[in-house]
Amino acid sequence: MADISVMWFRRDLRLADHPALRAAVDAGPDGVVPLFVLDPGDHASRVQHAYLGASLKRLSERVDGLHLVEGRPVDEVVRVARRVGADSVHVTADHEPDGSSRDDEVAQALAEHDIELVRAGSPYAVPPGRAFTGTGSRFKVFTPFYAAWREHGWPDPEPAVREVPWLDPGGSAPRPTDSDGLDHVALPAAGEEAARRRWRAFLEADLEEYDTVRDEPGADRTSRMSVHLHWGEIHPRTMLADLGRSRGAEAYRRELAFREFYADVLDRRPDSAWGYYDHAFEAMPYDDPGDELEAWKAGRTGFPIVDAGMLQLLGEGWMHNRVRMIVASFLVKDLHLEWQHGARHFAEHLVDFDLASNQHGWQWVAGCGTDASPYFRVFNPTTQGKKFDPDGTYVRRWVPALADVPAKHVHEPHTMADPPADYPRPIVDHAEERRESLRRYEALRDQP
Ligand code: FAD
Repeated sequence: MADISVMWFRRDLRLADHPALRAAVDAGPDGVVPLFVLDPGDHASRVQHAYLGASLKRLSERVDGLHLVEGRPVDEVVRVARRVGADSVHVTADHEPDGSSRDDEVAQALAEHDIELVRAGSPYAVPPGRAFTGTGSRFKVFTPFYAAWREHGWPDPEPAVREVPWLDPGGSAPRPTDSDGLDHVALPAAGEEAARRRWRAFLEADLEEYDTVRDEPGADRTSRMSVHLHWGEIHPRTMLADLGRSRGAEAYRRELAFREFYADVLDRRPDSAWGYYDHAFEAMPYDDPGDELEAWKAGRTGFPIVDAGMLQLLGEGWMHNRVRMIVASFLVKDLHLEWQHGARHFAEHLVDFDLASNQHGWQWVAGCGTDASPYFRVFNPTTQGKKFDPDGTYVRRWVPALADVPAKHVHEPHTMADPPADYPRPIVDHAEERRESLRRYEALRDQP
């Protein structure tokens, strides 16, 4: 009997530092069938599908006979594994709520045919559920998590598997790339090699100063590794191994740990994917979405830094972290809308959309998430713009109507004697809405 295994790729579209692939090779010396299942039930947006299509294309250039099928994983994985006579199917563990229940279902269906689903590795340096407080509970606050995460540590990156006996079972379905009509979105280059190139470029040019420049959207010197991390085109372990001890490296390690913290929180509280992490906020009075939400989505709020961020999101499928915080605060605290409206729009347009980081990024800004981001901390979009984009480089890059506005007025063009005709006036009075926001919060706190 030949020893055949299946390597079921999901969010691990790479060949290097890949424990599940190594396990598949060990279990399948006579053949490893590379499989990817396009699940029509997944919630990925068009922009994410387009990126995924490009990443799979890159992977298929390096993997002989990448087998693409469309259907429910519980049907397709079992069908393929049985057809090729595999004893085991190998995956990187998925810790997202839907992914982990899908895997339980697939494991059960495979077991009925004496085929094992083997989970090896995870998309994280320290998988969710491994870092504990001194009393053995899971963390609710980032800083102590970070200390425990570092203390826990992670293994060195694994060398790439040299010889994989890829086996092409034939009959692959054509890959629908679904990128029609997305020409206006400038997506980044996809795939493991692109991820490595981007990472090396960041290490060489930007890491040293990351701690000082990462908050300046105009400088655009963050790593842009989020999409590569999301699809597992590179493992965070590989990146952590390249970081030294500089201040920039320390700051960067901390950001990678944020990603892992939120994954840990979502693993502990799967209900926080779309529900309030702090249930008290369910009772807060919110407004119904209407024209103001549409203005926010279209980048027509009249607050330049907000509009620039929203236009960057539509133009690149990405937004600078500082600006994500500003636009999120604006939606929740100036427009008094529930964070889920904004999170849903991000989910639709971010190419790096990641359930844990997005939902908990939103909940943190909204004041109902982990850590002590107090609700009464309300970002002022104008002062934020002046502080982090002082000469207006970012705003001018993304809002054509402000291209010729002098730096002095670029964050409040409505104060000019002759403001640009094609740019809207502010849709709200920030000072007034801040007071309204605090009033609602006080009322919530006063509730018995
Ligand atoms: P860098 O500054 O170069 O950071 C390096 C890596 O650290 C990032 O790639 C990311 O993996 C991680 N990281 C950095 N900041 C954070 C953070 N605050 N939370 C978690 N991980 C972080 N990140 C996503 O990957 N997907 C999302 O859907 C997402 N949605 C967000 C929504 C909101 C409202 C907010 C405030 C933040 C969100 N983030 C999200 C976090 C952060 O904005 C992005 O990770 C970052 O902007 C990606 O750009 P970069 O790779 O250049 O980041």
